[in-house]
Amino acid sequence: MSTIAETKTYLNYVNGVWQASSSSEVVPSYNPANKNELVGSVQSSTKADLDKVVDVAKKGQKTWKNLSGTERGNYLFKMAQILEDNLNDIAETLTREMGKTLAEAKGETSRGVAILRYYAGEGMREIGGVIPASDSSALMYSKRVPLGVVGVITPWNFPVAIPIWKMAPALIYGNAVILKPATEAAVTAAKVMECFDQAGLPDGVINLITGKGSVIGQGLAEHKDVNAVTFTGSNNVGNNIGQTVAGRGGKYQLEMGGKNPIIVADDCDIDLAVDAAISGGLKSTGQKCTCSSRVIVQSSIYAEFKEKLLEKVKDIKVGNGLDGTTWMGPCSSESQYKTVRGYITKGIEEGAELILGGDTPESTDLKDGFYVNPTIFDGVSSSMTIAQEEIFGPVLALMKVETVKEAIELANDVEFGLSASIFTKNIDYILTFIDDIEAGLVRINSETAGVELQAPFGGMKASSSQSREQGQAAKEFFTTTKTVFIKG
Ligand code: NAP
Ligand code: MG
Repeated sequence: MSTIAETKTYLNYVNGVWQASSSSEVVPSYNPANKNELVGSVQSSTKADLDKVVDVAKKGQKTWKNLSGTERGNYLFKMAQILEDNLNDIAETLTREMGKTLAEAKGETSRGVAILRYYAGEGMREIGGVIPASDSSALMYSKRVPLGVVGVITPWNFPVAIPIWKMAPALIYGNAVILKPATEAAVTAAKVMECFDQAGLPDGVINLITGKGSVIGQGLAEHKDVNAVTFTGSNNVGNNIGQTVAGRGGKYQLEMGGKNPIIVADDCDIDLAVDAAISGGLKSTGQKCTCSSRVIVQSSIYAEFKEKLLEKVKDIKVGNGLDGTTWMGPCSSESQYKTVRGYITKGIEEGAELILGGDTPESTDLKDGFYVNPTIFDGVSSSMTIAQEEIFGPVLALMKVETVKEAIELANDVEFGLSASIFTKNIDYILTFIDDIEAGLVRINSETAGVELQAPFGGMKASSSQSREQGQAAKEFFTTTKTVFIKG
């Protein structure tokens, strides 16, 4: 396994070729497990670069939309195959750039392959339906058609899977795409694009432009020739993008934060619930939008649950994600590390009881990384900042309730509504939870963070703009409908 720093500067991928930005500015990307290790660099592109990309995408889309779905699907199958052939290399870069463990990075890259194959197949499935016309000699039908050019703005936490789950449906339905990845994980995105380059799509159909969110992201939101923008990231940025795109009559889709609860009812399999709290809360260092961050437990089993949880979390091995024995890697960057430490301090100041972690590992091997130990707070009340705001770190807040009804009220007492779990065997609890929980992803006896690519994905309340991604739901966003009436 290579740990030698790779210092390549990745260019933009525009019109089927790699192009330098008109600025000479580059942005280095470092390994959060070792802040001195340069993973690579990307360009800080300009508004002029963006105008050029939009122009070629607009032209490319004209060719692309005229291919049959089967033909477009064949390109997606090729993209999947090339990504799969390069899986180890992509996964290693992902781990080095944002810190998740190699096993998770491989899982994420495999997910990207599966998403491409799923949408490749969609090229052969129905895109409309016949509607009986009131005139018996006429044929009336609806037809899904592409939007045109789609801007794809993505976060750093899933730098392979999220761009693909947006680009694959956009492409299969006949759109051209412009990917603007998070700067913190843009090297990984560029390496994925190197794979896609080999699939030989028509020029201008798939493009990559790196640069500041405030320049390239905002530029995509403002550009009149970008017909739609699909965004995943934080609420502040997302809401601003939504307003900007809506203001010029474009289509937008926002997937944003979460503050996902697990409810642990008194009749549940406690060991299962403990494992789900750990996996859902701490995998990927708590940096999933679907991470569990509030663990709401009925009082009669609270002590037993807490004891079992502590016992298992104490054994978690924190370290460099490239080391096969590591269970949890570092925070993805220095700023993320500081944010997480800030929330931990705030939790203590506001009166929560820190019962585990809150600090950094002692090992000198880890001194150059942005590590935070798995952290558990007890006695958390809903008014505390750590019970309300998304931390995006390995921090679990334990909350005690008497009844499941109370647990659901507490679970809903946040602005977000992405994912929620309950652990119970009681059918009344389950049915009440399904009805009353304010979340787009409702999970019974399963962690909050599991996502299936063939099912709709998205949140309620402040977690999304209410549209859904993935599965068949993606068709809603990436197409518009023509109603055709043919008089014979
Ligand atoms: P972020 O800061 O909002 O950045 C997301 C993307 O927006 C990046 O590409 C960023 O570019 C760009 N951006 C930044 N400022 C912009 C602006 N003014 N105009 C347009 N674009 C701009 O989010 P993040 O820190 O990367 O990701 C973490 C967040 O993503 C968390 O809140 C998490 O919950 C959320 N998330 C949600 C989901 C979901 O599906 N619901 C999934 C994963 C993550 P730069 O990198 O260049 O700044
Ligand atoms: Mg980095």
